[in-house]
Formats: sequence, C-alpha cells, structure tokens
Amino acid sequence: MSETMKAAVLRAPRVVEIADVPIPHINEPTDILVKVEKTAICGTDLHPYEGRLELEADIILGHEFIGSVVDVGSAVTQFSVGDRVVASCVVSCGACYQCRRHQPGNCAGSRIFGLGLALGDLDGGQAEYVVVPSADITARAIPQGSNVNDEDILFAGDIMTTGHEAVARAMRPGDTVAVVGAGPVGLCAAMSAVALGASQVLVVDKVATRLKEAEQFGAIGINSSENDATDAVLDLTDWRGADVVVDAVGHPSALLAAIPLLRAGGVLSIPGVYTEESMTIPFADLYLKGVRIEMGVSHITEYMDEVIALMGAGKLHPSAMISHRMGLSEAAEAYKLFEAREAVKILLDPTR
Ligand SMILES: [Zn+2]
Ligand SMILES: [Zn+2]
Repeated sequence: MSETMKAAVLRAPRVVEIADVPIPHINEPTDILVKVEKTAICGTDLHPYEGRLELEADIILGHEFIGSVVDVGSAVTQFSVGDRVVASCVVSCGACYQCRRHQPGNCAGSRIFGLGLALGDLDGGQAEYVVVPSADITARAIPQGSNVNDEDILFAGDIMTTGHEAVARAMRPGDTVAVVGAGPVGLCAAMSAVALGASQVLVVDKVATRLKEAEQFGAIGINSSENDATDAVLDLTDWRGADVVVDAVGHPSALLAAIPLLRAGGVLSIPGVYTEESMTIPFADLYLKGVRIEMGVSHITEYMDEVIALMGAGKLHPSAMISHRMGLSEAAEAYKLFEAREAVKILLDPTR
C-alpha cells in the first residue's frame, strides 16, 4: 500500500481539487478502515461547496460510500478484513440517552463524514480510503451473493434510508401518502411508500421529468405548475386529504403547500432540512386537524437494516436516480454539474 491517496478536498467555496493526502489509519479500537469502491455527491455537500456552511480549508468531502474493509480495530466484532460495507452518513455513539432510546439522529456525540470540525471532524468518503468510527454501529455488511446491487446499497447510508424513515415512521398499510418534492429524498420516500403498502402514492412537483421518474416507481405524479395540487389530492382521497404528507423539500413554501394536502388526524412528516429560526405556519389549521408532526435528523442506523432487506427483496431501486457515473478525478467537474442541477445524482469511482 502506498502512503498517500487521492481525495476530493474543498479548498474554498466552489473550489474542489483532487489532492494527494496521507492514507488515514485506525485511531480507535472501534474503527475500521475502508477502501472506497463507490461514492456519491449528496445535496448536503452543496452546503459547504456553496459556502453556506463554512468549513476549515481542505476538508475531504462526502458521506455516501461503499467499500471493502482493509483494517479492523481490536474491539470491532461485526467485521473482518475483506468484508464489503456501507456506512451510515451519521455516526452515533450507541451509548448516550438518545441512542438508548433508539434516536441516534439526536445522539449527543453525533458526527457526519466530510462536514468538518463542527460535525465531528471526520474525513469524507470521496477518497480512496476512509475511516469509519464505531463500525459495529455505523456500518452494515453488504449481503453476499444477494440481489442487492452495489449502486442501490450505496444509498442505504443516506438518502434512501432518510426517505424510507420519513414514511415508515408515519404510515400504515393502505394509506394514501403524498410527497411534496420529487428530489432524491422525495423519490426515495415515494419508493418506500409503495414498498410498504400504501394504497396510493402521490408525488407533487413542478418538473415533469422528475414526476416521470416517480411514476416509474408506481406513484401518481401531480404537476403543481399545471394543476392545483390540493384539488388533485382531495379528488383522489374522497375529499379527505392524504393520510401522510411528506415535505421532502425543506423550504417554507413547501411546508405551506404540504399542510392543505393532509387529512384531519393525518401525519406530516418532514425529512427536508430547515434552518429558518422562525417562520409563519397556519398553526390553528394544524391544531384543529389534530396533525402529528414527525421531523428532525434521520435515525439512519435504526432504519438501514429494513432498507437493505427491502433492496434484497427487489423492492427499492434508488440507483434508478443516478444520472452520471464519473471518476473521482473528475470531482471538480461533477460538483459544477451537480450545483447547476444538470445532474440528479452523481456517482464517483475512486479508481479513475
Ligand atoms: Zn447526504
Ligand atoms: Zn449517542
């Protein structure tokens, strides 16, 4: 093994370069070292890329990856050298009060790969090697000889599981589930709602090509630039509204569009990320409807196993969203495409 590796580092906002950096090594007995086989760019990576989240210079980006284990800490029990793994993008301790209550997204020591010191100082996976801490909690083995496609399982560590959780925590079989926003998380939520036995899955967006993708998973697309989304949802639910509404956008306008779609007593599920300190919402409407709201950072490690099992059963295919397959060496170009919204989802191959 040579001493250095290639990694996509963020020199400054919008300046991604491939750098030669030292190969990381295991620091804690609970760590594993993973040789990355595939990695992806996530919408969250645009926060530091565009300078909205200020990071120290030269952070290695990326929190979606799969690879093979090349070194194992002495306290790791679930993995050996040679195992192939996917890792949760969020690393939790497994021992604090929230972790013991099965809420790892609220872990007191929560860390995220590739987002700098403020989020736990973990190097990202857009590199040839990455250290995965608390491996027994954070990582899952990729089932051997199964039907699971590598390009699907890559998404079990982040967006597929986030979308799945957004519906799994909210819906019952037979429900009508409406998803606002057909971006990657919205499409994953729609896919899981179909897999979990929704009677109807309605996806609301303004972009016809995204709606077409949703329809391929068995959802009904509602183009809100052509139709009144509330009327369309009411029309399909005996004028009740949807049992579950998922706001997969994370923008006040999406939340305001989501609320009228919900039936009385329904569940509003918000995987979209909000950073507004305050905003105006029709609170009396939510109160009178008796709405339950589910939101917050995903509890990825609580839902990953379900997602991997459903992938094995052929029910979830998030790889259908991949629009570009590029080499890690093309990372700068890939980020430009992704920022310009010319790519839905980009995979990077560290071997080229
Ligand atoms: Zn992500
Ligand atoms: Zn914890």
